[in-house]
Amino acid sequence: MKQAVLLLGGGQLGLMMAEAGAQLALHVDRLDLAQEQIIPGTSGLRLQTSLAQILQQYPVISAELEHLPDTPLVQELIRSPNWANPAAFQHTADRFSEKTLLDRLGIATAPWCLIAQPADLQRALADIADELVVKVIRGGYDGRGQWMVDTSRLDQVPAELMGQIIAEQKITFRREVSLVGARSRDGKKIYLPLVENLHDQGILRYSIARCTNDASLQASAEAMLGAILDELKYIGVMAMECFETDQGLLVNELAPRVHNSGHWSQLGAEHDQFALHLRALVDLPLPRQQIYQPTLMLNLIGCEFQPGWLEITGLQCHWYGKEPRPGRKVGHINISLADAAIAQACMTSLDSLLDATHREMLGRARRQLF
Ligand code: ATP
Ligand code: MG
Repeated sequence: MKQAVLLLGGGQLGLMMAEAGAQLALHVDRLDLAQEQIIPGTSGLRLQTSLAQILQQYPVISAELEHLPDTPLVQELIRSPNWANPAAFQHTADRFSEKTLLDRLGIATAPWCLIAQPADLQRALADIADELVVKVIRGGYDGRGQWMVDTSRLDQVPAELMGQIIAEQKITFRREVSLVGARSRDGKKIYLPLVENLHDQGILRYSIARCTNDASLQASAEAMLGAILDELKYIGVMAMECFETDQGLLVNELAPRVHNSGHWSQLGAEHDQFALHLRALVDLPLPRQQIYQPTLMLNLIGCEFQPGWLEITGLQCHWYGKEPRPGRKVGHINISLADAAIAQACMTSLDSLLDATHREMLGRARRQLF
């Protein structure tokens, strides 16, 4: 068994991977990409190390982000045999490659094109849709690097970005859903139940895992993600974000890693997405199936930690230890929906301990649920 895993990136996804790894005595460390230092386990310490030491110490290297910086160290690491899933990282490194892969596999996605010059935008408005979402090919996240464009708002898109953006049809969706699936080296796959996601200003605010999905929608999402996982001979957890439309599912984005919309599984699944990802990466068996319970995951964005959250029944708090800044994900709360009365009482207690923005989001989730 390979016991040490290194994840590129110093954020909360790697932190939670390290927490999950401890249960299986797996050694999961992170690599802070800005300072090029190892963060051992969950410690927060930063240690200097060399490329040779990294390759020797960590037989399995992956990442908690797909838009990796183009530095000499990263280039060496992703060329090494220790780097897991080279094909998946190549195809999801930018939106152009990702959309091209989806088109090649015949997987439905919002109609799109590359914008190489201003005239391409005019053409996209004529050929694709009256309303477009323009997105940077590399580096966008949480809705950053996106513009809503129609004929009256053509000049919004910075001219210097030509060649580095795509335009896609603005989709009228019923709701946004996502699927998290894991594939082992021998091709076995397990999927979590589809979750419903609410984004506000491009940022995920909450996910609802009802765990009682329409079987045909679940099967359709599994078929799409399964085809992608097999094509890429992928090992580990991948997330697929979708728009549900009257014509079925359209894939919006792929993430070759654990994903914010899978955090509910820490409370709602026997084995959460972090454990599944690690097991697959180090060749430990995946469960054939597992038991789920309905869960709400509420993201904590730019707010302060409240100790009172910890007193509430039916609630699990994950705090990332980051300095709160506007728009920054600093933690999340999982609420069990297994017992409606407990869930309602939990949300009532939580409501009084949230700021106005989070209270509004909790209120929306609650109205959706009850
Ligand atoms: P993430 O943080 O998930 O990586 P992102 O900034 O990379 O997000 P997307 O997931 O593509 O970007 O978009 C963020 C949100 O913006 C979507 O979840 C959706 O709510 C909205 N959005 C994106 N593309 C479209 C579209 N074509 N039509 C309608 N809404 C869209
Ligand atoms: Mg997204």
